[in-house]
This record gives sequence, C-alpha cells and structure tokens, in this order.
Amino acid sequence: MKQRSFRSALLALLTTCAPVLAADFQAGVARVKITPPQPFWMSGYAARTHASEGVYQDLWAKALALRDADGHQAVLVTTDLIGLPRVVSDEVAARVQARFKVERHELVLSASHTHCGPAVRKNLAVLYDFDEEDRRRVDAYGADLVDRLVEAVGRALDDLAPAQLSAGHGAVGFAVNRREPTPEGVKIGVNPTGPVDHDIPVLKVVAKDGSLRAVLFAYACHNTTLGGDFYQMGGDYAGFAQAELERTHPGATALFMMLCGGDQNPNPRGTLDLARQHGQALAAEVGRVLGAALLPVRPPIRTALEVVSLDFAPHTRAVFEQEAASPDKFRQRRARLMLAAYDERKPVRQTPYPVQAIRLGGDLTLLALGGEPVVDYALRTKRELAGENLIVAGYCHDVMCYIPSRRVLREGGYEAVDNMIYYGQPGPFAETVEEAIFAAVRKVMERIRPAR
Ligand SMILES: [Zn+2]
Repeated sequence: MKQRSFRSALLALLTTCAPVLAADFQAGVARVKITPPQPFWMSGYAARTHASEGVYQDLWAKALALRDADGHQAVLVTTDLIGLPRVVSDEVAARVQARFKVERHELVLSASHTHCGPAVRKNLAVLYDFDEEDRRRVDAYGADLVDRLVEAVGRALDDLAPAQLSAGHGAVGFAVNRREPTPEGVKIGVNPTGPVDHDIPVLKVVAKDGSLRAVLFAYACHNTTLGGDFYQMGGDYAGFAQAELERTHPGATALFMMLCGGDQNPNPRGTLDLARQHGQALAAEVGRVLGAALLPVRPPIRTALEVVSLDFAPHTRAVFEQEAASPDKFRQRRARLMLAAYDERKPVRQTPYPVQAIRLGGDLTLLALGGEPVVDYALRTKRELAGENLIVAGYCHDVMCYIPSRRVLREGGYEAVDNMIYYGQPGPFAETVEEAIFAAVRKVMERIRPAR
C-alpha cells in the first residue's frame, strides 16, 4: 500500500514534469587546439607586411553535437579563424559524412572572423604574395586544420550524453555601425546612427546532474579590436569572452558564433586591453543570461541546407586588362585571377552561397548564412520571421566575400565594392543578391517547418 502510493506520487510527479523531461537531447562537446606553428602569416588586413610574432591566446575549434530521440542530429563547429573557404568546409563535410554519417545539412562550420588568426588556405589569397616555403606552410596548416575539425566532430559525437537545453537573449553595446558617410562616399569609420544588432542569443546545455556542459553565444561584430599593426595571434574579443566564460564556469565549453556583423566594428578599438574589455563585457552579459530564467528548448531537430547562386554585376575582360596596369598590387593580383578565368572561358559570373536552417523544436532556429552578411540581413529576417526565436549567423560554411544588402550595395563603399578585390571576386553583386538570399531563407524555413 505504502509502495503503491509512492508509485502513484511518482507517476503524478512524472506527469507534471513530462513536458520538461520530454525535452531531453543527447549532447556532446569537444575542443581541439588550432593555433598554427609560429611564426605564421596572419589574415584579415592587407596592411600586414610580415608573419606573426607570437601568440597572446591559443586558437580553438570547438564542436557541439546534438541528437534527438529519433536520431536526428546537428553538429555545430566554431573556430577562432578569419573564415573557412569552401575547399576546407567541403573536405571536412565529406569526411564527416563518410566517418560519422553526419550529413552536410546537419553540420554547421563557422568562424569568429578574428583578424589575429592565420591565413586559411586560399581565403583572402589576394592579400599575399607567398614564396614557395610560405605556400607550403599555409597548405600544410590547411590540411592539418581539416584533420582537426573532423577530430572535433568525432570527439563531440563520442561525448553524447543526456542533456537539457534552454535559451535566452542578452545585449551589449560595443558593436557600432562602421559605414561612415563622407563627402567622398562611405568610408570605414564610426556611424553612430547606422543600423546595429546588439542581441546576444545564448544556448545553454546542461547535463543530467545539472552541471553546465556548454554555452553557445553569438554577437554581430567584427573581431577587429586589434588592427593591422598587431602581429600576435589570438581570438580578439570573442577569444577573451570564451576564455572568461570557461574560467567562471569550470568544466563548461564556451562556443562563439559570429552573427551578421559585416558592417559592425567594436568601438573603441586598437589595443589588447580593449579586446579584453569587450570580451569581458560580453562574457558578463552571457553569464547573467545563464543565471536568469530561460525558455526550454525541446526536440525534434530539423535541418535544411540550400546552396544558391548569387550573380555578380556584369563585367568585361577590358575592365581587368585595365586593372592589371593599376599601381595597386592587390588590384593587379585580382585582375590576374579574373583574366586567367577569362582565358579559360570561365569568367566569374556567380558564386555559390550556402543558406542553412536548424530548428530545435519550435523553440529555437539557427539560420547559418555564408560570407560576411551586413546587419540588414539579421534585422530583415527577424522582421519577416517575427514569431521565431532566431539566431541569424553569418561566416558559416564558406566566407567568399561580403554580402551587402541592396541598400548597402546602392550606397557603395568597402562592404559593397572594395572587399571584392581582396577576396579575388570580380566586383559588386547584382542588385538581386538580397532577394536571392531571402528566397533561399524562405525555402529552408519551409523545409524545417514543424509538422502540425
Ligand atoms: Zn570582415
């Protein structure tokens, strides 16, 4: 009798808790160091003239694997790197599919866009004029990086254990719009009235015993607190934020994702102390969110990936024949790339562009976009999908160039035009770019729509 009442009490308790207990995922985390051997060429600034002079902070690849009771899965990989080119992501994805049966649409490969990290294969290749030895070292690091990213995914999957997820949002204000209007056009500076997105989405992953296993957080701001005159490697503000969260939450892994911060810079910027300060401000806010009441995030996991083709504005061979004679060495290199493509009768008219969506129940949706999208993409997505709890990330899968909105394209400046020189692309996008991306966003959102 006594036992029966205990059992019925337990049943009553289980029924009450059912919606929460049903929320169980399997989650696994892993981290792999990806700091290159020193010295090594750094990436992000055309002004740098020599290789690195040391390391102020190690660089990491971190993986968070999630699986639901039906075997649907998603693996998120974050890296303290400038950006992953498609050759790296494709190779990682192929090996992860073959070894671990994780499909391309289930895998997110992202970069923090730190400007204190190494050159990654051919990403931003126009910045460099490598000799044979430099080329060999960059290729070797690129090959090693693929191994390490695959290893991170494998170890996160090996680590899968019951977990509960919850999500919340914070905000911090050090990101500023950097597109400053001047009489000579838009320059990179400070534009206090330009659009920003100070949202910090936070995903909390807790083990069965209540301990914090992982925190995924994100912010829309370039990791450019340190400038092109700085020659030590590290993660900039995002590196400091992750390290601080891991220090204040021992045993937990902190993963940073870069949002649509193509036109956002930290302000103020220029010193290591400022990078640390911004990182601590971000970590403090994420810590506050972790301690607050969060919304439960429940299964199932749904994933979808579309690769669309984005058109560049029309160009002719004559444009690059003229550019090849420019006194600017970066323009000369871009022109040579474009002329070579014309010679092969394959002028660069489009670029493939990945758009991915990962939905966790009806509770949280990650939209993972390629390239360096400006903030307009996040603001418009949040307007159009107002009922969704969203993380709108950029810098995923393939960072091939900036992704301007139509507004930014019409205004001109670095994010619309000049960045294409350093990325080895032919020139600005056609005005259809924004609508082509939003058509793909609607498609992936439709495919992950919950069954009613
Ligand atoms: Zn950038």
